[in-house]
Amino acid sequence: MTTKKKLIAGNWKMNGGIAANDALVRAVVAGLKDAACTVAVCVPAPYLAQVQMLRHGTPLELGAQDVSSHEQGAFTGEVSAAMLKDFGVRYAIVGHSERRRYHGETDQLVADKAKAALAHGITPIVCVGETLAEREAGHTEEVVKRQLAAVVHANGHCISEIVVAYEPVWAIGTGRTATPEQAQQVHAVLRAQLKAATEHAGRMPILYGGSMNAANAASLLAQPDIDGGLIGGASLKAADFLQIIAAAR
Ligand code: PEP
Repeated sequence: MTTKKKLIAGNWKMNGGIAANDALVRAVVAGLKDAACTVAVCVPAPYLAQVQMLRHGTPLELGAQDVSSHEQGAFTGEVSAAMLKDFGVRYAIVGHSERRRYHGETDQLVADKAKAALAHGITPIVCVGETLAEREAGHTEEVVKRQLAAVVHANGHCISEIVVAYEPVWAIGTGRTATPEQAQQVHAVLRAQLKAATEHAGRMPILYGGSMNAANAASLLAQPDIDGGLIGGASLKAADFLQIIAAAR
């Protein structure tokens, strides 16, 4: 059983607005006093400055939902790790399945994004996960290991600084959650892969993501290799998000 501090990260996806963000962040911060875990919100890029101001002086950490693999230059629409750092960003999600699927992100690009984040002291939350078809074909382990291997290969000894998020694609935004046993099985595979790459694998957070909510969080978070959660829909409601945070002890 791991005893390290858990990490609960909200992924707002493309949701929010000035007024709604203000209310949500204030409500989350107000409920954080007794939190035993680290808590972050990964917000759309235009709201980083707003949320940075709202969270200032509180334990709430700030995250981005993506980062460019490039340092700077002619990459219209992209946001660099240095820019994120300017706004106090501590985490950046990379390789979310929605970016792999809708933006054609490859394992190599995800690995390069993780590298760019690390170079600027931002912790990449590297998402891996299989589709339903891949699971049903018995390829779950092969898929997540391939996705993680690209990141391990590109990042050398810095690999111990990443966070991994196992997010079965069939569980994201579907209301269908992996059972704690299904999730633990994959987390154990990922932990073993990290152990082969770094002596620090035991302290590296491996998060579960995919329809985690107030009702199922405790049983998922009780698994020995589940060190926190990446929360989509349920992070948009302060009460739900706070209940998940309370379950992360
Ligand atoms: C996510 O987007 O990373 C996610 C886990 O979403 P949801 O919790 O809504 O399934």
